[in-house]
Amino acid sequence: MSLFASNTVTEDLQLVVVAVERAVDRSPDGLTYALPTSLAHLPDGARVEVPLGRGETPTAGWIVRHLPATEDPGIPRDKIKPILAQDPSGVVLPSELMQFARWISAYYACPIGMTLASILPAAVRKAIGRVERTLVDLAPSLEGLAKITKKQQHALDVLATLPRPIELPDLAEAAGYSTNEPLKRLIASGHLVATKKTAVEAGFIARAGNVAPAPTPTAEQQAAITAISRDFGQFAQHLVFGVTGSGKTEIYIRLLEECVRRGKRAILLVPEISLTPQTVGRIAARLTSAKVAVLHSGLTDAQRNQQWTLLCEGGADVVVGARSAIFAPIPDGSLGLVVVDEEHEPGYKQDSAPRYHGRDAAIRRAQLAKCPVVLGSATPSLESWMNAVERRISTLHRLTKRAPGLNTPKVAVVDFGAERREIRDRRVNLIGPTLREAMQKAFADDGQVLLLLNRRGYANYIACSDQRCQWKFTCTDCDAGMVCHVDESGAARRSYVRCHHCLSEQLLPKNCPDCGKPVTVFGLGTQRVEEELTRLFPSLIEGDTLLRIDGDTMQTAQHFHDALERFGKGEIRCLMGTQMIAKGLDFPNVRLVGVVSADTALALPDFRAGERTFQLVSQVSGRAGRGEKAGRAIIQSFEPETPAIRLAALHDFEQFATLELADRKSFGLPPYRRLARLIVRHPGETACAERSAELAAAIRSFSGGVEVRGPSVCPIARIAGKYRRQIELLAESPAEISRVLAEARTRGLLKLGEELAVDVDAIAAL
Ligand SMILES: [Zn+2]
Ligand SMILES: [Zn+2]
Repeated sequence: MSLFASNTVTEDLQLVVVAVERAVDRSPDGLTYALPTSLAHLPDGARVEVPLGRGETPTAGWIVRHLPATEDPGIPRDKIKPILAQDPSGVVLPSELMQFARWISAYYACPIGMTLASILPAAVRKAIGRVERTLVDLAPSLEGLAKITKKQQHALDVLATLPRPIELPDLAEAAGYSTNEPLKRLIASGHLVATKKTAVEAGFIARAGNVAPAPTPTAEQQAAITAISRDFGQFAQHLVFGVTGSGKTEIYIRLLEECVRRGKRAILLVPEISLTPQTVGRIAARLTSAKVAVLHSGLTDAQRNQQWTLLCEGGADVVVGARSAIFAPIPDGSLGLVVVDEEHEPGYKQDSAPRYHGRDAAIRRAQLAKCPVVLGSATPSLESWMNAVERRISTLHRLTKRAPGLNTPKVAVVDFGAERREIRDRRVNLIGPTLREAMQKAFADDGQVLLLLNRRGYANYIACSDQRCQWKFTCTDCDAGMVCHVDESGAARRSYVRCHHCLSEQLLPKNCPDCGKPVTVFGLGTQRVEEELTRLFPSLIEGDTLLRIDGDTMQTAQHFHDALERFGKGEIRCLMGTQMIAKGLDFPNVRLVGVVSADTALALPDFRAGERTFQLVSQVSGRAGRGEKAGRAIIQSFEPETPAIRLAALHDFEQFATLELADRKSFGLPPYRRLARLIVRHPGETACAERSAELAAAIRSFSGGVEVRGPSVCPIARIAGKYRRQIELLAESPAEISRVLAEARTRGLLKLGEELAVDVDAIAAL
């Protein structure tokens, strides 16, 4: 007789399919379990604990389906085990969210259990910030109970007049007790009946900023608002294409207001970087009649649990959040609008399983909820542009004018190679004469300057000074060069090198390990620009009037917010950094934007390099001239005639998109075809080659019309000691790719983990 005999009596119990939070992917749905009588009330979407495998290891999972009595579970009833318990968090996902999760799971080829696990924030799972409260009510009968004092009787009389049940401390206060102890004695004696309630202390953290008067929409804004409003109540796609400063946010706010007025809820996705308290406060201030919840990485665990619980309970009308807010647990039937600001942002793509794209997921979520989705950008992704202009799947709204009071910045592209040949000053490395003079003028006019260089560190090329030697400092675990950084936090200036892929660090060697000659560092890095700036402009003092913002200096969202606040107050004259400073910043006194090198993104081995460069140059130029005085942008480049740079300087997105789309079409690349990348990783080079070849061969046997490329060595052939090879799937329609991936999953070929990643609609090529 089995030790678990008592657990396997499941004769008349309801059967459910549970997706466990493991990378098991044998069946598309999950495993069959029985719902014990005590848990019979659990619906689909409830998180539970189930016994898994021979050892019956308690494992978290989700009820994804109730089996109808007529359906054959496929295994003998006496082999079906009961669910152990409901998850202590008590989470039940709305059924629309469950349906959405199933789509994410299928489309991005990630097991449903893993997908659901990633939807639920850890803070909610661990019930951080959850408190237990005691509620009390009068006993149904006082018969046979011990005598009580007058004061105790008074408490009961007071309770009789109050709405019940009531929280224990509230009754103590109403009855005039200073502690809960006398009431606890009444519970013990049976005069009061106590129940426990757990709750998350939920409150709104979106604090309203200064309430600015609502501007009257321009004719272009009003036309977009009217057209999109007509689609409330049905699925429709809209693309708002507006130059920076043209007032896209005003359109979002008006639509959010209208959505709430109609009794529906809305999701507004914004890039993580622009989720400053400033932005959120401005939106909350305008949406006076709406309750706004916020979800982003800067929240504490307790806050995240709060906001999530608030949404789950239907307590919020609008959620503003980063990528993962697309999984906001909005009650069924109430989602009325989804907005994705800066829809072209690469940060919307998640780089761990499920590797979803926030914008594409937003479109799908709106479709499931039968509501409109609005994408907005000054430099739309070519995917969205093609959908609007060529395929007419979405309606295009153009905003061609900057809001009143904003000037279009004048953008000049400087041929940096020519400048350097002309001046022959060997000390001029990064800031050429044109940019330097413009900076001097901006400072003289009491303006502020933003400088962009999209590369962290001090220098990115470390090699032997003797050209015959050929020694170059590369990471021992990755096929990538090491980047030199300078640490000035301690007493002495210390140079070290770091690998930007596996994050390993070493001290910078003085001499070449091969020949003993001195080591030199070349190339660009934000730290080196910072050093040159302080030499050129003595008034710029590091950490005071000059601040560098990059992934090395801004370790938390708070650092970033503090830096922006100081810049806003004018304490910092020059802000320099990586693309963190290119986006969404709105400071009226920025008179000059400089791009130290527009070429850094062009050099990437990625067919989207041109698109990224155009976006970056446009976005950062748009930061100038947001006040009353005119703004300028100066772009230094060794390749000033590159269309991406030349057209970004002319603010001509449409011309750029036309050229770039023609190129993509002729090469059969996205957005004309869908692309999925399968990356095979292994510590052994031969094993990596063999496994990827086997996988490619297996997929080719059922790939049909889907083109299977590779395996080929990834652009970065080894990261953190693992060799990397890729297989690319290309097809006209997403459905064809989905079919091949689903077949591969059914055959057990796609076990996600350390050794395999599947990236559908991949946007990075490394
Ligand atoms: Zn490395
Ligand atoms: Zn050497």
